[in-house]
Amino acid sequence: MEYYTNKEEETIKLGKFIGKRLNKGDTLLLSGDLGAGKTTFTKGIGNALNIKRIINSPTFTIFKSYNGDINLYHFDFYRLGDNQYDFMIEEYLDNDGITVIEWPSCYKEIIKNEYILIEITRIDDNKRKFVISSKGKKYDKIMGDLNEFNFR
Ligand code: ADP
Ligand code: MG
Repeated sequence: MEYYTNKEEETIKLGKFIGKRLNKGDTLLLSGDLGAGKTTFTKGIGNALNIKRIINSPTFTIFKSYNGDINLYHFDFYRLGDNQYDFMIEEYLDNDGITVIEWPSCYKEIIKNEYILIEITRIDDNKRKFVISSKGKKYDKIMGDLNEFNFR
């Protein structure tokens, strides 16, 4: 499925729409270049989960955890190389929270469980393209709901 957002607020709305439909143990992989909007999208998920703290990029810390209606585990693997998988991410996957991973590329083969993949492309200063796909039957309902998504 393909969507375009024309400003930051629309990306947050899209994140919120999906965030409202997530359950404990769900995993989202966010790919796209620096500045594409991965963290902005995650802010929308945070809104849906009633997270009060400001969600910002975990690029330098690799991991941040937020308390909300469901806990959010926010990873950013930008600074990790291919063979630096010594991180105990498996403890978080399928756990009691929602796991969001920025720069998941080198981890896809490890992440054998089900996930939603969101591929973001910067079209111009304010326009972004979102391609959303999923692996695993448990996300079929969200994928169906996304057909009805609009920015109103
Ligand atoms: P990433 O986490 O992918 O590196 P960020 O979400 O941190 O990206 O940054 C995205 C930047 O692009 C922000 O400065 C944001 O204001 C800007 N931006 C402009 N238009 C959009 C849009 N449509 N969606 C998301 N971000 C946008
Ligand atoms: Mg980011």
